[in-house]
Amino acid sequence: MLKATGVAGPKDWEAKLPDSQRRKQGPYVVFECFQEIPCNPCEQACPRNAVAIGEDINTIPCIDYGLCNGCAICVARCPGLAIFVVDETYAEGYGKVMIPWEYKPLPAKGDTVTAVGRDGKEVCTAEVVEVRNIKNQDRTAVIGLKVPLEHVNVVRGIKLGGEING
Ligand code: SF4
Ligand code: SF4
Repeated sequence: MLKATGVAGPKDWEAKLPDSQRRKQGPYVVFECFQEIPCNPCEQACPRNAVAIGEDINTIPCIDYGLCNGCAICVARCPGLAIFVVDETYAEGYGKVMIPWEYKPLPAKGDTVTAVGRDGKEVCTAEVVEVRNIKNQDRTAVIGLKVPLEHVNVVRGIKLGGEING
């Protein structure tokens, strides 16, 4: 599906998830970085050395889920906006998804927003439960969304205004 439409399908993104045991243990990163491209800020950003690319900068990042604690520092550092953090243990019946956000308006904690999937289609409503937008994120905010658990690996964006966050 990825090659045909440019949008990752279930077979593409399911291959990027950690195993079911790790998913029950708390927040985990999901790298939806599918192609060999010369890029490695994610490797340099991770304070726990959980991301490995190695000497060939074209290598697709490999995640050590024993080291990743889902801190989401890498989410704002990916120029491709391809990194997310998912927490399936967030609340009874709900998970949390951390997404990168480079547009205005910047949503506020407590807002209710429309959550969309990889194809931009509406999935559900979501509550904004966290907003990180500190200076060293260089205008890539990271938004935490509370979503029904069944949508936690479907929701990958939100629908709001359209101006670039500059
Ligand atoms: S979420 Fe944190 S620990 Fe996990 S890969 Fe990203 S920066 Fe490293
Ligand atoms: S920074 Fe993003 S696009 Fe670049 S290699 Fe890492 S995950 Fe892929």
